[in-house]
Amino acid sequence: MVIGGGRPEPGVGSLGSLTNRVSRRVRPALLRPWRAAMVARSRDATAQLTTTNSLVLAPHPDDESLGCGATIARKRAAHADVWIVCASDGRGSHPRSALPPGRMAELRADELVQAAARLGVVRERVRFLGHHSGTLHQHVDTLADQIRDLVRESGVREVLVTWIRDPHPDHRALSIAARMAVADRPDVRLLEYPIWGWVEGPWTREPHPSPLRRALRFALEPVEALTPRPLGVSCGPYRGAKWAAIREHRTQVVNVTGEPDYGTLGPGVLGPLTSRRELFLPVEH
Ligand SMILES: [Zn+2]
Repeated sequence: MVIGGGRPEPGVGSLGSLTNRVSRRVRPALLRPWRAAMVARSRDATAQLTTTNSLVLAPHPDDESLGCGATIARKRAAHADVWIVCASDGRGSHPRSALPPGRMAELRADELVQAAARLGVVRERVRFLGHHSGTLHQHVDTLADQIRDLVRESGVREVLVTWIRDPHPDHRALSIAARMAVADRPDVRLLEYPIWGWVEGPWTREPHPSPLRRALRFALEPVEALTPRPLGVSCGPYRGAKWAAIREHRTQVVNVTGEPDYGTLGPGVLGPLTSRRELFLPVEH
């Protein structure tokens, strides 16, 4: 996750601005019932998903812990093989900080290794693809090739990746790359985990020239997001391991520089992402 990753919506004339203003007001009221509907509709797949070998794809260091930390810990407790693959270096999380981006990338790489250890994943199973954060949409074909190779190398039949509806461009780009990578592998199950889409809601942000159609889409997207039926993994006693992993991402949860405007992940983000259940959206081949 990169803090403040959501993009502002494009305004299209006064009607467009009105649509944007209304949607911004209505979203918070819809968010809680929408999340409740997602959970209510989910099918418990704890037994099914916690024993399978898996490749976990994270756009940034921390997404793996926030989105599926308990699932990873459960898998490792069951001796399943888990690979954590981080697509970007997360250097762009605090662009206004005095901490140089290169140093931030180094710190975040170390943090990911420590977080993985908290979840039971050894250093040899953590891979860094090395792209700069904020640029994944420019490297979708390369990412797809890299994921294809990693699926082959690891021999896994399951890939976890961020949700296609996550509004952050890096999250969405990695999802698209994963879909491309397994398109000709019907034997590989692809599951998406929500991060920003869970925190902010399922509203995608592609520009649309028609305010009326945008309003219609705003109403329909929470309903569309209920299909396919989500799979749920109970965090159970592994919630503690998930929290421990999240805390290893110090640059994201602690003000490490003391700068007054250094942003950290607060309760509004961590609360929804550390509930009793982790959700996965299956992708149809
Ligand atoms: Zn991220």
